[in-house]
Amino acid sequence: MIELTLAQAAEGLRKKEFSSLELTKSVLERMKSLDSQVHAYVETCEDEALKQAEAADASLKEDSSVLHGIPVGLKDIFNTKGVRTTCCSNIIKDFVPPYDASVVSKLRDAGMVMVGKTNMDEFACGSSTEHSCFGVTKNPWDLDRVAGGSSGGSAAAVAADMAYYSLGTDTGGSIRQPASLCGVVGLKVTYGRVSRSGVTSMASSWDTIGPFTKTVEDAALVLKEIAGHDRRDSTTPKVDVPDYTKNLGQSIQGLKVGLPKEYFGEGIDPEVRKVLDEAISQLKSLGAEVKEVSLPSTKYAVAVYYVAMPAELSANLARFDGIRYGSKPKGDVEDMIDYYFQARSEGFGDEIKRRIMIGTYVLSAGYYDAYYKKAQQVRTLIIQDFNKVFEEVDVLATPVSPIPAFKIGEKADDPLSMYLADVFTIPSSCAGVPAISIPCGFTNQQLPVGLQIIGPQFEEGKILQVASAYEQSTEWHKQRPQL
Ligand code: GLN
Repeated sequence: MIELTLAQAAEGLRKKEFSSLELTKSVLERMKSLDSQVHAYVETCEDEALKQAEAADASLKEDSSVLHGIPVGLKDIFNTKGVRTTCCSNIIKDFVPPYDASVVSKLRDAGMVMVGKTNMDEFACGSSTEHSCFGVTKNPWDLDRVAGGSSGGSAAAVAADMAYYSLGTDTGGSIRQPASLCGVVGLKVTYGRVSRSGVTSMASSWDTIGPFTKTVEDAALVLKEIAGHDRRDSTTPKVDVPDYTKNLGQSIQGLKVGLPKEYFGEGIDPEVRKVLDEAISQLKSLGAEVKEVSLPSTKYAVAVYYVAMPAELSANLARFDGIRYGSKPKGDVEDMIDYYFQARSEGFGDEIKRRIMIGTYVLSAGYYDAYYKKAQQVRTLIIQDFNKVFEEVDVLATPVSPIPAFKIGEKADDPLSMYLADVFTIPSSCAGVPAISIPCGFTNQQLPVGLQIIGPQFEEGKILQVASAYEQSTEWHKQRPQL
């Protein structure tokens, strides 16, 4: 039962082949037997999940949401009423939110069964889930390797059949990169497509929310349920939420797919490159018109991100003062300033401190124009690149990550090489456009590789169409890790 997709599980519930309680018990069993190895979850919600499943069984109707009664794991950055929400940081490790994030309310209204909260890099900063105060998540395909990050727990939970779907956040790649490394589907939406209300902010002008699933169809189903305007998040425009499943199974004959030449240069692992080349041939054989395009400002994207993101992050994290919810100064404190100083020194991990220092520096008087303002200007050039290229092509196809899952600890002392894990995901984050990572093959060591399809703003339907055409013509998404 645990191997079913979300769509299959939902159908089975309606046909009374099994109950939500049975689905939920099987996921909880799987978590008990496997998660000590994988560590996808930082909190298991067994009692609540069983109650929610019973309630879901009692209230299931023909027109219930497709998510009704289906076990889900949520990244520990989503406020969940009554369930501890820590962002995997010591500074708020005892925080129990008194309210749900807007997306969580939507899931609750849809009949949510939440089996647990998933592991992540502290405040979503990282590409390996090694920066979590609860310890690292292992890649289900090779337990010596990382699951990617920052939503590594959400990706690993779905890859290891410990949830039928999960939610994560993607600011510069945190859904797509772990999805790629764990061999599952990960969808980063257009900025503003899904409400961020009640989701702890990392970098507010970049943060997005999206699903991890086993198939493209499942991603389309979840997106339909979570997308849309929310009066609590003024960056969610009143753009209609279409039925994304209508795009599935449609031909991509004649559709124009651009290959940005900046994404296929040096730095890509040769095995990843080979898998990508085959995936692109597959798109061609499905009738897509594939052509080389250029996004000339791509080379600035990582630099722009690592100036603008820490600026926003440091401002957002200024609110964590250590007075409530988490670690408190252990020694004597002289005054309030000393209290904040000690609480924040003890409560934040090294990567967060590094980014707070960068962020406050680039915003400081005298440096603001040279760094922050300049980064914003170059961000505009990157946005213009995307606007221009989408006059020529419908979607772009690119790698997600230049390398497959790396060994745990391998990049721990080298932040720059960790930052480069996101070279192919950050540009589309700069532009706020939607992108998906789908499984497209394996390296010789059986490590999954993802294909990224990027589309224009609010064209999630289009990228889902291309992704589903590809998926239906291949078998990669059916492979499961041996655990
Ligand atoms: N890995 C990137 C970073 O460290 C992206 C994080 C994210 O998307 N939340 O910032």
